[in-house]
Amino acid sequence: MLIDPHIHMVSRTTDDYQALALHCIRLVTEPSFRPGFDRNSVAGFKDYFEQLTVAEPARAAKFGIRHYSWICLNPEEAANLELAREVMALLPEYLDRPTVLGIGEIGLNRNTRNELKVLEWQVELAAQRNELVLVHTPHLEDKLKGTRLIMEVIRNESGLDRGRVLIDHAEEHTIEEIKDAGFWAGITIYPGSKCSPARAVDMLETSGCERVWVDSAADWGVSDPLAVIKAAEEMRRRGFDPETIAGVVYRNPVTFLSQSPSFHMSC
Ligand SMILES: [Zn+2]
Repeated sequence: MLIDPHIHMVSRTTDDYQALALHCIRLVTEPSFRPGFDRNSVAGFKDYFEQLTVAEPARAAKFGIRHYSWICLNPEEAANLELAREVMALLPEYLDRPTVLGIGEIGLNRNTRNELKVLEWQVELAAQRNELVLVHTPHLEDKLKGTRLIMEVIRNESGLDRGRVLIDHAEEHTIEEIKDAGFWAGITIYPGSKCSPARAVDMLETSGCERVWVDSAADWGVSDPLAVIKAAEEMRRRGFDPETIAGVVYRNPVTFLSQSPSFHMSC
């Protein structure tokens, strides 16, 4: 059994659920994100959070897949601070839902002042509620600066334990800083803007297989819901032992996610 701990199933077809089940990916976690257009009302966010906490777990269950989610206001949705404040007021109700693991994916995308403000609000909320946190880091040229800014915001919030924060979309130039600072790291296999399976496994070879997971972040763009199994296959091809492979694609995510009281392994 494998886990894809970061995948946006609201954007995927039912055939993808079938493919996940056929490839033994029997547990997924889905962070809140931007749907590819600007939601401009609180009602739009409510609909989305209902979809994440009610509709997707039911759709997944038809294929024997357990579906968890993360609730937040995504950094790409932080431009309108007034709307952001109203959406923030919604979050506690959804964070209390039984299949919600924590706050995510918060972070930065273009490292703007408003993104930083909304990140600070949500880090504070996470500390107050003792929530697990999943963090998105910016793409390409903004990644190193954005990752450092995010780590700084989290360090400034003394109530947040770094072992309960996973910083995702790590790359060669950020993964060691993330792990050295005491956070968990995520490696995302995604065509174009993120890693290939080969690059992901290069990173595992150089920075180790502890406190790290791999995910697909498959969404409405050209992406691959079977990316996790491709990483496992690339590890096998390079001679990693089965225990280490299972650590990365199964035990590590279980260890991190089990810190949320809502997480249960039952399939
Ligand atoms: Zn994502």
